Amino acid sequence: MSIDKERISVKPERILAVKGMNDILPPESAQWEWFENKIRSLMDRYAYRNIRTPIVEPSALFIRGLGEVTDIVEKEMYSFEDKLNGEQLTLRPESTAGVVRAVVEHSLLYDGGKRLYYMGPMYRHERPQRGRYRQFHQIGAEALGFPGAEMDAELILLADALWQELGLKDVQLEINSLGEPDERKAHRAALIAYLEGNVGLLDEEAKRRLYSNPLRILDTKNPNMQALVENAPRLIDFLGEKSLAHFNSVKAILDMNGVAWKFNPRLVRGMDYYNLTVFEFVTHQLGSQGTICGGGRYDYLIEQIGGRPAPAVGWALGVERVLELLKEQRSVQLQSAPVAYAIVPDAAALPVAMALLQKLRGLGVSVQMHSPAVRGEGMGSMKSQFKKADASGAQYALVFGADELARGGVIVKPLRDGGSQQVEHSIDHVADWAGTLQSIT
Ligand code: ATP
Ligand code: MG
Repeated sequence: MSIDKERISVKPERILAVKGMNDILPPESAQWEWFENKIRSLMDRYAYRNIRTPIVEPSALFIRGLGEVTDIVEKEMYSFEDKLNGEQLTLRPESTAGVVRAVVEHSLLYDGGKRLYYMGPMYRHERPQRGRYRQFHQIGAEALGFPGAEMDAELILLADALWQELGLKDVQLEINSLGEPDERKAHRAALIAYLEGNVGLLDEEAKRRLYSNPLRILDTKNPNMQALVENAPRLIDFLGEKSLAHFNSVKAILDMNGVAWKFNPRLVRGMDYYNLTVFEFVTHQLGSQGTICGGGRYDYLIEQIGGRPAPAVGWALGVERVLELLKEQRSVQLQSAPVAYAIVPDAAALPVAMALLQKLRGLGVSVQMHSPAVRGEGMGSMKSQFKKADASGAQYALVFGADELARGGVIVKPLRDGGSQQVEHSIDHVADWAGTLQSIT
């Protein structure tokens, strides 16, 4: 395609990405793929199966699922009206509600519990800063249809195994139990009475939530309210025998596995749907965005979204934060390099060269072909092509020189230290030598 330079005399203004939404570019994207592959392998070992739900859901799903008086629903959702049919839609701010919707919609629990995992982008209109973006990525695991404490523990062990495999240090597990709705009700009354008695110490948000969602006040990040929150009535003191037994069972399994945990009676989590066990994995190394993973039991959400009552438990981790922590702690040098780089001195050789490359790739060899950056000036000198080959990180150069081509051959030249001498191979018998092109690293 030729561009009419005259017509584009005024340079159009650049269009930039939406604030708080990031491009993930090579070579960094290699780190993401590496991480995602680790997740796939780990989920497979715990028999969690992949589920993919739409990024856009009816707004009602989140309003009903997460709770009206939550940070997400009150101020973080990207909601809009579908201009064509007037539907109220929202870009998913999290995935548990969508997974539950799908599970109910497709009756996935008809033959027993399901272990599921997902990964993908989420959207929250927050103030962008380190570890906090408007498009960010979560990986989540959900076990639906299982009431037992062992499932809470399994999910925590799964997350813990991930930190181990990544070699992450300084990740602490905090756990709490939110009990059951009737226990929460009794605690709520005591909490409101306590907060009413200290109303002068409450900030605006807390005052607003005093009667609508007092438990969430305990989750405040306002430093001036920490002492108040610290001395507030603790939910754990309102739990009955059954809830305490559930909590103790979770802790016993963690202890047996040598997973250290810290009881945090003020841990409440941001969504309304949790009951019994809640937990977070936190680190000191990411500033104030220190929670890398959070989750808990949500035994009433399925019913709330219109399904037959069934228990469930799950967690979600923030991919950006985990990768950031990984970067802080160890330099995972991931290089994406082709095994071979094809040097084509004369453009006339391109058809033959590309036919050979196509075969090599079919045989599993990663090959990058030289292609000049400037139109109409040929393929570039041998020297400049070798320079590019070297910069690509390839182990070998395939040189399609005219003399060799004339007799049906191609040169394979090792590019790295300690490589053997260059060899000429037959283009017609590529399957015989493709195996010699192997990554040495
Ligand atoms: P926070 O208290 O930091 O706002 P949250 O309680 O809202 O977190 P969850 O809804 O539990 O977070 O989401 C699970 C994980 O997703 C978090 O622990 C975090 O690692 C990540 N996460 C949440 N919001 C963002 C965001 N805006 N940008 C990047 N990661 C995020
Ligand atoms: Mg948040």
